[in-house]
Amino acid sequence: MFRRVLIANRGEIAVRIIRACRELDIETVAVHSTADAGALHVQLATQSVCVGPPRAAESYLNLSALLTAALETGCDAIHPGYGFLSENPEFADLCAKCDLCFIGPPGDVIRQMGSKAAARTLMRQSGVPVVPGSDGPVADAAQAAAAAAAVGYPVLVKASAGGGGRGMRRVDSPEQMDALFAAARGEAEACFGDGALYVEKLIQAPRHIEFQILADAHGNVVHLGERDCSIQRKNQKLIEESPSRALDEALRGSMGAAAVAAARAAGYRSAGTVEFVLDRTGHFYFIEMNTRIQVEHPVTEAVTGVDLVREQLRIAAGLPLSVTQEQLRPSGHAMECRINAEDPRRNFAPAPGRTAFLHLPGGPGVRVDTALFPGYDLPPYYDSLAAKLIVHAPTRLECIRRMRRALEELIIEGYPTTADLAHLILYHPEFVKGTYDTGFLEQHMDELLAWACG
Ligand code: ADP
Repeated sequence: MFRRVLIANRGEIAVRIIRACRELDIETVAVHSTADAGALHVQLATQSVCVGPPRAAESYLNLSALLTAALETGCDAIHPGYGFLSENPEFADLCAKCDLCFIGPPGDVIRQMGSKAAARTLMRQSGVPVVPGSDGPVADAAQAAAAAAAVGYPVLVKASAGGGGRGMRRVDSPEQMDALFAAARGEAEACFGDGALYVEKLIQAPRHIEFQILADAHGNVVHLGERDCSIQRKNQKLIEESPSRALDEALRGSMGAAAVAAARAAGYRSAGTVEFVLDRTGHFYFIEMNTRIQVEHPVTEAVTGVDLVREQLRIAAGLPLSVTQEQLRPSGHAMECRINAEDPRRNFAPAPGRTAFLHLPGGPGVRVDTALFPGYDLPPYYDSLAAKLIVHAPTRLECIRRMRRALEELIIEGYPTTADLAHLILYHPEFVKGTYDTGFLEQHMDELLAWACG
């Protein structure tokens, strides 16, 4: 096992990784920007190194500063967390060159899955169903229109290097293609430095269902069931749960098998997530693979009892998976609410500030992953995730009730958050029935805000 791990991240995920390392008796080196000198991950790590000024491009994304910090502090491995450099193949390759173990899949696997167009091709060749669409990237709006005509409108024009719903446009008719193609290309170039686009049929009112997988260096690949992440704002997840109400055992079995096949086809190693959209008729389609730990991983940890970060560390150290597919028997129901420092009334605009008062919920079946503490100034430079509330209970209804009461206990003063909105969603009949799709929040936002004002 590793002796000392550098954590190339910040916030709650850095804290999460430190916890897993401590339980395995591994020392940790935190890195931080000047804005994060007093952050919780810095306080909890064995030691810390300042890697640059607040802007992420100059600190958390600064490859040479991070590698230098790891080498100078005698680390033998780097955990990238999520976001930042976690899906940067060059970083994974450089770690290997510096004799540092990158805790994630090999650079080439990240590279191939990072190109969504290439990933689609690989999946289709491996028998994993993909959304009907273009064969690889399209060169221009005319090619996009031809691909769209072949599968039928509406379609999505998507950035091959995309993520977080950016560089993506819905196109309803051929007349719209020129303008929306240009908009998607501009956004893709600005966000990812890569304007490659591909076309996918828009699946109407889908559920976003993703499967957690683990793969080791010995050829073992397992899936740990699904997470339903259909409650989204601006294509970004807000509430996740497992199991999904949309799956029966047969569908779960075939989607799980497809996820394992996808991981095998990719030559995957480490924890990863295979994302699908599921249509109203029970057909599912691969949309992408995330080659890192996900924000919502605790949902799976709650129902399976498997510590996914610990597994990542073990796999990277060359150890076999600690569970087999047969041993994995998910139990009960789990849910996560992302508490973002955002104002839902202002189209979820980020609203960082000083944490004037903080009370975190507790009691049976409640877990809070956060880097907040009273008096902590949430910096404006990074993402707006302030805390994750995860609950586990024997049944879905008990889980919903537990989440409601956990949200009622939670107090964060100093800035608006998504906590009250989550609480309202948990009372919405469609959510309670479990019949929602990815359009839920857009359809019901006005109604939910009216409840809040009523
Ligand atoms: P990201 O990198 O943000 O996860 P995705 O390609 O996975 O990008 O898309 C984000 C969200 O957009 C998905 O969770 C889903 O809700 C929606 N989406 C993506 N592809 C399709 C599709 N073909 N049809 C309908 N919705 C889609």
